[in-house]
Amino acid sequence: MSDTQALKAIYDFYDDFLKGTPLACKKGCSTCCTTNVSITTLEARYILESGLLTDDLFQRLKETAAKEHFVPSTTINTSAAMCLSENQMPEETSPITFDPCPLLTDEGLCSIYEARPFSCRAMSSETPCPEGGEAYMAPFLVTANLAMYQILEHIDAEGWYGNMLDVIEIASKNGNDQIKAAETMEGKVKTNRPLSCFIIPPDEVMRFKSFMRRLSKKELENGKKLGDLLPTDWQILT
Ligand code: SF4
Repeated sequence: MSDTQALKAIYDFYDDFLKGTPLACKKGCSTCCTTNVSITTLEARYILESGLLTDDLFQRLKETAAKEHFVPSTTINTSAAMCLSENQMPEETSPITFDPCPLLTDEGLCSIYEARPFSCRAMSSETPCPEGGEAYMAPFLVTANLAMYQILEHIDAEGWYGNMLDVIEIASKNGNDQIKAAETMEGKVKTNRPLSCFIIPPDEVMRFKSFMRRLSKKELENGKKLGDLLPTDWQILT
């Protein structure tokens, strides 16, 4: 089974998890569709395999990538590992731009909606977002989203993490050409790393364990379960 099939199972699990969450998000609302979307190469491969990213859209991505854009300082699992070893986490120093995502249509729709990356699925709000304002998420949804990012990075531990504008370019190549492309980007993309721990607020630990039990039982097409893809010794840091 390919890792993009595992990603599909994760997206399906997340869709089920979100059912029952009252969200203000609706078709045509694109307030959060900016150039600040961070993804793994795994999510980029899923987009490429979907066939939804046409040559024109790919070209638009490349043109936008040539402009200044947000670059995450590190990966989520690296940040978590630094917390675990009590290192100080690096601060985000890259400028955050709010240019519209190049994959957005003139009607405010996502051109690759079925294959959109996890950041786009996780960006939701229980109340309508004011222009330039923030989304509102229940605290446990923030916790679950962070864990999902970590799990995706773990499954793609051989890959990279960065702005979608850069990561899709890398994922469009094969083998050594991927490594060369990542090196050419001079730090714009970060190497993924395996999951070591989840950082969970003390009052959410019980609920989080239940969430992970359900996620681990999610069946994959090859008869295995999502839990088989995760390390058995992950820790919770409160
Ligand atoms: S990929 Fe789609 S959902 Fe994500 S920011 Fe771009 S247009 Fe919006």
